[in-house]
Amino acid sequence: MSEIVSIPIVKKKLAGYVGFHNLPNQVHRKSVKRGFQFTLMVVGESGLGKSTLVNTLFNSSLYPNKENKEPTHETPKTVDIQTISADVEENGVKLKLTVIDTPGFGDFVNNEESWRPILENIEARYDAYLEQENRVNRKRIVDTRVHACLYFISPTGHSLKPLDIEFMRQLAARVNLIPVIAKSDTLTEDEIKAFKVRILEDIAYNKIQIYQPPIHDNDDPETIQENRDIISRIPFAIVGSDKEVEVNGKKVRGRKYPWGVIEVDNEEHCDFIKLRQMLIRTHMEELKEYTNEVLYESYRMGKLTRGGYDVSSETSGMNPLSKFEEEKLAHEQKMAKMEAEMKAVFQQKVAEKENKLKQSEEELYARHREMKDQLEKQRLELEEKKRRLEAGRPGTPEKAKKNKGLFK
Ligand code: GDP
Repeated sequence: MSEIVSIPIVKKKLAGYVGFHNLPNQVHRKSVKRGFQFTLMVVGESGLGKSTLVNTLFNSSLYPNKENKEPTHETPKTVDIQTISADVEENGVKLKLTVIDTPGFGDFVNNEESWRPILENIEARYDAYLEQENRVNRKRIVDTRVHACLYFISPTGHSLKPLDIEFMRQLAARVNLIPVIAKSDTLTEDEIKAFKVRILEDIAYNKIQIYQPPIHDNDDPETIQENRDIISRIPFAIVGSDKEVEVNGKKVRGRKYPWGVIEVDNEEHCDFIKLRQMLIRTHMEELKEYTNEVLYESYRMGKLTRGGYDVSSETSGMNPLSKFEEEKLAHEQKMAKMEAEMKAVFQQKVAEKENKLKQSEEELYARHREMKDQLEKQRLELEEKKRRLEAGRPGTPEKAKKNKGLFK
């Protein structure tokens, strides 16, 4: 067997121009050509400003204008999963954006299981990816995995609700959770500060892992500071508005109150800028990477191990193909057994139905016979009646005959 020999790495200075400093440009050109893709999920009770925030984040009307729509009074029965896709472009860079909304979440009398359909949807997307990865042809893998989930916390100013905690606990291992305080313009600055502290305490107490930009020691000081600034704003207190208002003669995106204007794009008024910075400008790729390398990977490992395919067999020398064949055979046997059972049930049901039909046919015959006999009886009775009537009526041939005999 050949031995792997580690080769010592020697740092060399180049004597002249080679050109690989251009590698980042090559990657840049390729990725711009290919375009980018990002999937964002928004979760929270209805009316917390989810669609407004998405429109505000991407500065476009991704959501149809809800304010002009007739309100529906129908209460959905379950949490729905709705997807909106849009191709957005900025300075020649194309982004295929998918927003997944979850209307109905938290809107029922009993919201205990509200998190379940959302978790199932996220896992189904991992399954679809895994299935594509396992195909022989893996050229065109479509990635529909959720890269980040904005969780909208109601601006109560108290602490997290049991539903918030349950949702985050259940989803944290599967998706990059980004908690936001919705409609933070309805709280004062002090209320927001205290609310944030309590939310972070609840999150820590329940050992919920939320997404935070990583701090790497080898990053440049500017990046480290930027990331620290972002972290210090979590959970982001946000204000959304897709309408412009006037401030000192200038049009800005914001919400107008009798006491003044809350500006969306003003870091002193809310954390919208920091959220957008993290989500779009600085950490979109990092969110995708974390989804792929950590969250999806742990799901994939768990799934393969649970499914009987022991990952350690890859290293223990067992042929994965024979394992696969074995599983295939077991699966086929299971399917054949199910099919036989289904056939038996079907035949039994058909026999039962035939018996029932026979029985009702016989019943019908009996009733028919009974009715026929009855009618015959009635007919005979009527005939008898008729005969008797005719016998007693004057002018009838029989009576005339009798009368003739009398007056001779
Ligand atoms: P969704 O059901 O969660 O998608 O909520 P919408 O985005 O449809 O918003 C519901 C209502 O809240 C609309 O009338 C919005 O104008 C309003 N709204 C949205 N964001 C904010 C916000 O940040 N602050 C305040 N005060 N109202 C908001």
